[in-house]
Amino acid sequence: MKEDYYELLGVSRQATQDELKKAYRKMAVKFHPDKNPGNKEAEEKFKKVSEAYEVLKDDQKRAAYDRYGHAAFSGGAGGGASAGGPFHDPFDIFSEVFGGGGGGGSIFEEFFGGGGGGRSSGRSGAQRGSDLRYDLEIQLEDAAKGTEKEISFRKPVHCTRCKGNGAEPGTGVVTCPTCAGHGQVTVSKGFFSVRQTCSTCHGSGKKVEKACSACGGEGRVNETTKIKVKVPAGVDTGSKLRSANNGEAGAGGGPSGDLYIVIHVAEHEIFERQEENLFCQIPIKFTLASLGGTIEVPTLTGKASLKIPAGTQSGTTFRLKGKGIPSLRGGYFGDQMIRVEIEVPTSLSSDQRQKLEEFALACGDADEPVGKTFFDKAKKFFD
Ligand SMILES: [Zn+2]
Ligand SMILES: [Zn+2]
Repeated sequence: MKEDYYELLGVSRQATQDELKKAYRKMAVKFHPDKNPGNKEAEEKFKKVSEAYEVLKDDQKRAAYDRYGHAAFSGGAGGGASAGGPFHDPFDIFSEVFGGGGGGGSIFEEFFGGGGGGRSSGRSGAQRGSDLRYDLEIQLEDAAKGTEKEISFRKPVHCTRCKGNGAEPGTGVVTCPTCAGHGQVTVSKGFFSVRQTCSTCHGSGKKVEKACSACGGEGRVNETTKIKVKVPAGVDTGSKLRSANNGEAGAGGGPSGDLYIVIHVAEHEIFERQEENLFCQIPIKFTLASLGGTIEVPTLTGKASLKIPAGTQSGTTFRLKGKGIPSLRGGYFGDQMIRVEIEVPTSLSSDQRQKLEEFALACGDADEPVGKTFFDKAKKFFD
C-alpha cells in the first residue's frame, strides 16, 4: 500500500502551495542522498517525498490525486504519471469531427483541455469551474462614494459529503468498466475506426464504486451563495469587478472559476453623468436672473450655494468644481455642471402686471417687448 502524499510531506490536505514547498524543502534537505551516503532508507524516503511533491505542486495532478488517490496515476492508456496533462490523443479531435457523442464540448476544448469549464474529457476528470457573471445595479450616489453590497446567487459548489470526488464516503474509486481505464473507446464509423472519449467516465478512466448520495456522483451541488462585494468609488455602467474563486466549483474537485460583477448605474432623477462630470438643469426666476442673487442647488453630497450674477441669460452653465464623481483610478474628482433655465411667469396678478408694464416703459420698449435690435438685424432677410 503506497503512503499518502500529504502524510509523507507532513502537511494537511488543505495545505497551500507555499506550505507544500516549505515542507518538501525540509524533507529533501533531511533525506538527501548526499547527506546520507549509503543510507538506503533515507534514499527511499527522498524518492517518495520528491514524488509526492511532484504531484501535489501541480494543481491538476493534485486534484486528480485528491479524487482518486494513487489510482489516478496507475493503469490507463498512458500509464505512468501522465494523468491530468492538458494534451490529448489526436484521435480525440476525430471523434469530435465525426460527431462522436462522447465528451461533449468543442474541438477547441478537446485540443486544449480544461480551462473553459463545462464538461470536458480531460483525462484527470478535474476541471477548473466556469467563470460566472453577476449584473449588479447600484445608485449614482453609491457609484460616487463607493459601497459594499451583499449579493446572493445559485452556483455549483463542491459537495461536502464526498469532498468533490463523487464517491459515497467509505466507498472507493474503481477502473471504469466501459473503457477498462483507457478513458477512450474505439467505435467504427463507416470506413473509419475512431477512438472517442469514454462516455461513462468522461475520459478519466475511473469510476466511483457508489455515487455520492448528496450529489449523485457529480461532485458538485447547486447552492445559494452569499458574498459581499466592495464596489469602489468611481465605477460606471459596464465596470467589471473580478471576485477570484467565486465562480462555479470545478468538476472532479477542480479549482473554482472567478465571478465577474458587471456594474449598472441606475438613472438619476436630477443628474446625468458623462465620465466623471455631472450635469443638471435648474430653473430660476427671471427676476433673480436679472437682479442676481444666491440659490441653493443639490449635489450628490448635499446642498451647495451657487451665486447667480445679475444679468444671467437662460442656458448659462455654471461649474461646481470637484462636485462630480471621483476618478476610478483615483487622483481627481469631476465637476458638477448646472445649466440654468429662466422661468417666465405664466400668470400675473393685476398688480404684478402693472409693475411690469411700468418696467417696460422705463426700458422704452413698451411697444416692442422683443429685442428691437434683433429685428433690425433680421430685416435684410425679409426684403
Ligand atoms: Zn457528493
Ligand atoms: Zn471509461
